[in-house]
Amino acid sequence: MPIERVYKGNSISEVVEILGQYEKDAKLIAGGTDIIIDIRNEKIKPKVLIDISSIEELRKIEENEDYIEIGGAVTFTQIVESEIFTNNLYGLNKASRLVGSPQIRNKGTIGGNIANGSAAADSVPPLICLDSTLIIESINGIREIKLEDYYKDHIKIRENELITKIRFKKPKENQILSFSKLGLRKALSISRLTISILLELDEEEKIKNIKVSSGALARYPMRELEVEEFFLGKTLDEENINAGIIVLQKSMDKRLEGRPTLPYKRVAVERMLREALYQGANFLNKAVEV
Ligand SMILES: Cc1cc2nc3c(=O)[nH]c(=O)nc-3n(C[C@H](O)[C@H](O)[C@H](O)COP(=O)(O)OP(=O)(O)OC[C@H]3O[C@@H](n4cnc5c(N)ncnc54)[C@H](O)[C@@H]3O)c2cc1C
Repeated sequence: MPIERVYKGNSISEVVEILGQYEKDAKLIAGGTDIIIDIRNEKIKPKVLIDISSIEELRKIEENEDYIEIGGAVTFTQIVESEIFTNNLYGLNKASRLVGSPQIRNKGTIGGNIANGSAAADSVPPLICLDSTLIIESINGIREIKLEDYYKDHIKIRENELITKIRFKKPKENQILSFSKLGLRKALSISRLTISILLELDEEEKIKNIKVSSGALARYPMRELEVEEFFLGKTLDEENINAGIIVLQKSMDKRLEGRPTLPYKRVAVERMLREALYQGANFLNKAVEV
């Protein structure tokens, strides 16, 4: 079935209306880095495409005292170039900087990365650690959903919906977001494995708060709750880090049982978990031996 019409969206309200009109016959296109491949491979056959890439409202990164909001059509390059994602939010900069190639980063958007629903979407683990909320609009109104639940409950984006924003509360100054990735090829990698950590240490250098999220270690990006529970209240010494790696591996053994990639992933997470923890601890200027 050929594409019959391409709309160039000018505003959120206009896009929502067109989506409502065509429902499953229409598809949004932002950077096109995922959807063009799907259309070429005839995985999807939309009649109508709605281009949202030049809608200003969707291309803003906004910050107030408490929250940061990233528009659904913000590109990875915008995130890399934003001063907001430095210092303790550096993990999101790193995740965006390691996406594909410069061309992919210039075109690919954070909304497309989430909506595409891949287990290996690089922006998702750091955004889960930040407890992000998706703001989604359709002709039926606005709904909000935690990014973590969006994946966990397999609540995929509905046909007539647009992700307008991703919102999260700013972490405290003494909390740091880190990111570690193992890709197949550096220049054009579709991420195979990622780990992101939000870390806070107390005065005794014990872990006061920790959120750990992984990409491609399960069917969807997820919190690693057993690992979080293990590290809480502990110091970041080699003994604890090694024991924490085993907790993660055991958890993977359960959910990836029988998968041919499991042995490789078990080895890969050793370096990644260690790296993400050290990045955080080094930023917080705590004495951790590497
Ligand atoms: C060579 C190559 C390398 C890549 N490397 C990586 C990598 O290292 N890491 C990584 O994570 N990804 C990678 N990708 C995948 C891709 O670039 C990302 O997933 C990107 O973020 C998709 O965004 P997009 O704007 O291009 O989405 P599109 O292709 O425009 O859309 C993807 C899907 O999301 C929907 N959509 C888009 N925007 C919205 C919105 N605001 N609301 C609701 N639905 C929406 C579309 O309808 C479509 O179904 C790579 C892709 C290629 C081709």
